[in-house]
Amino acid sequence: MVRYEAPQTTPEAIALLASAKGRVHILAGGTDLIVRMKGEYIEPDVIVDIKRIKSMQSIRKTAAGTSIGAAATCGSMGRHKALKKAWPGVVEAANLIGSDQIQGRCTIVGNLCNASPAADSIPALIAAGAQALVIGPKGERLLDVDKIPTGPGKNSLKKGEMVVSIELPARAPRSADAYLRFTPRTEMDIAVVSAAVNLTIDKKSVITEARVVLGAVAITAIRVPAAEAALIGNTLDEATLAAVAEACSAACNPINDKRGTVEYRTRVAGVLAKRAAQSAWARAGGKA
Ligand SMILES: Cc1cc2nc3c(=O)[nH]c(=O)nc-3n(C[C@H](O)[C@H](O)[C@H](O)COP(=O)(O)OP(=O)(O)OC[C@H]3O[C@@H](n4cnc5c(N)ncnc54)[C@H](O)[C@@H]3O)c2cc1C
Repeated sequence: MVRYEAPQTTPEAIALLASAKGRVHILAGGTDLIVRMKGEYIEPDVIVDIKRIKSMQSIRKTAAGTSIGAAATCGSMGRHKALKKAWPGVVEAANLIGSDQIQGRCTIVGNLCNASPAADSIPALIAAGAQALVIGPKGERLLDVDKIPTGPGKNSLKKGEMVVSIELPARAPRSADAYLRFTPRTEMDIAVVSAAVNLTIDKKSVITEARVVLGAVAITAIRVPAAEAALIGNTLDEATLAAVAEACSAACNPINDKRGTVEYRTRVAGVLAKRAAQSAWARAGGKA
């Protein structure tokens, strides 16, 4: 029989995770975990439900930026005006997950820890330079989010550790992000390819900082340094966009499956990265 625990505080949750025997799983929204249990892919001995921990439900401004609690739903991210204004790309990624019903339960931390190569929030979080606050028996550490997923369904968290929050940096002036994915259906589908771009421009619309990340084209989301280099020092003219697309397509190492061939994913990655760059640039106030 599965032992179900619903701690009310973070220290209680940590104590439970440290002392529980057998296969211990954290439950946030459960939109991945319960599906995997039903499919008998996993059989937990202990489930630690973190949804009742008040401090983990909040989205709050901090000295360094914004902190999104591990139990804050993707739906609540979409309703948070300041977050949406500062990080429109992160919020649009969270609000593409499933449906209203799924977003009413699911979290970006669950999306991150579940580590699907096609997860929507991961590319946007990496592009944003987000960090995960991880707490475990040996104390706490801040990890860049790209250090959490290590392969399909696998993450780098150690026994007894959990992510408590996602920390987004403060938004610099004249900067913005964007996230786009391609799915055959408009809703309730998993990305065939996705792209996130986060950039900063100067007063002349020249890009001074850029992060470009692709999803669903490798075993984890990948940053594309060559695309970032193509953006920095330029405005978003045709030549720059073409260089971004070329660099992104060249960085792809996707699988062939029923949802997309290698050739198709490789081509679409370039197209989506270009469009995400255009959207981020326009949001940052870029003018041709
Ligand atoms: C119908 C449907 C549609 C979906 N559509 C999409 C989609 O469009 N895009 C997409 O990316 N995903 C989609 N998903 C997958 C899922 O909804 C997302 O991955 C979601 O963000 C998971 O969040 P959760 O809070 O429900 O995670 P949970 O299921 O609670 O947890 C997922 C995993 O993360 C671990 N975990 C959770 N919280 C923590 C923590 N704080 N610390 C450490 N580990 C933790 C759990 O133990 C589990 O292994 C869909 C799922 C369903 C059922």
